[in-house]
Amino acid sequence: MIPMTGETVSQIFRDTAYIRIGGTDAETACAEYFITHLKNLGLDARLDPFDVQMGDVHRAVLQITDDTGIHEVPCRGYMCAGSGEVEAPFYYLTANDDKMSLAGVKGKIVLFDGYLGYWLYQDLCERGAVGIISYDGNVNFTDRDMDRRELRGWVADANGEKKGRKKLPAVHINAKDAVTLIENNAKTAKITLCQHEYTAQSHNVILDLPGTDAERAKEVIIFTAHYDSTPLSQGAYDNMSGSICLLAMAEYFAAHEHARTLRFVWCGSEERGLLGSKAYCANHSGELDRIGLCINVDMIGCTMGKFIACCTSEEHLVHYISYMGREYGFQTAPYQDVYSSDSTPFSDKGIPSVSFARAAPRETAMIHNAYDTMASMKTEHMIRDMEFITAFSERMANAVYLPVTREIPDKMKEKLEKYLCRKR
Ligand SMILES: [Zn+2]
Repeated sequence: MIPMTGETVSQIFRDTAYIRIGGTDAETACAEYFITHLKNLGLDARLDPFDVQMGDVHRAVLQITDDTGIHEVPCRGYMCAGSGEVEAPFYYLTANDDKMSLAGVKGKIVLFDGYLGYWLYQDLCERGAVGIISYDGNVNFTDRDMDRRELRGWVADANGEKKGRKKLPAVHINAKDAVTLIENNAKTAKITLCQHEYTAQSHNVILDLPGTDAERAKEVIIFTAHYDSTPLSQGAYDNMSGSICLLAMAEYFAAHEHARTLRFVWCGSEERGLLGSKAYCANHSGELDRIGLCINVDMIGCTMGKFIACCTSEEHLVHYISYMGREYGFQTAPYQDVYSSDSTPFSDKGIPSVSFARAAPRETAMIHNAYDTMASMKTEHMIRDMEFITAFSERMANAVYLPVTREIPDKMKEKLEKYLCRKR
């Protein structure tokens, strides 16, 4: 059904097997690669720029005093977490939501598990922490890779300068070293962070295919997939796979009838906090009323795992996709929820959305580290997943009346409030 071949899928994976951090030249190079690919199909896509904050970290040092003496722990400085030096007692926060545990952070440099989310940063600021250490990786892996994390602008703004506070200096280390800190009873820590912060541009890539029916063409179906990656990752699975799906669908619909207008948006800087889709919704607010449905593709085509469809919509869509899967003999696991991807800013504006993904077990495909490469992917699964998403999209594009009601149920609104950290 879709014209894109397995060879082309593999070729695009190979051509884009590089790190594409939002706001860097590498990300822009990938955007231009898509524009060239589409041009070769006779399609005119364009770059839609938006500002992102960057930080070139010149120096990041973590010095620890523990039972064995004083030594430096390899670290990477958080981007956009300011510059400065701080020395303080060390504290390992394990129960992020517990008041007693949080009371212990005052005046300390705090190690914690997981990601630096909005509420954790707020708690650390308000309870008087003076520095932050996070970690990732895996004690059982042979590598000592460290992700390059960032203090997201909207998190810092809500808790920083506007409240007369300085940003908390933050560094990121490998899990093996985090374990050593605790094993050797780390007592004090000293963080030195030096960086140049500035504004750069990231880009959405936009392609319009005007509808073929005079009346229904006024209604738009928007397709989204992010093409940026995290600092250690080639992002084959997350999310060149979804980006290829949109390229394949653009090629398909350019040659097939679609009553509604189709707008394809390859989003930049998703990994940095859905910045591309948020910028799109902010900069195209006048056009959002025309959008009836957002179809987002984030991580498909892996070798192992189940095909999911996360519907931020009325529940009927869940059943629709489930029935469609049975009709096609295609195993699906649809459900109603909010998905952590570019569909969410659209749903927050009242546009129903569905995010398609093939969820791989962690044992077989990892994301946001150096293991996310073509090796996790199976070309036949890419084709099969893309066929199903295209078949669903074709029904939506040509339905006499768009089946999905244009409203967000209250329980989904509640989840959006929480996901977007407007509510705890
Ligand atoms: Zn993703």
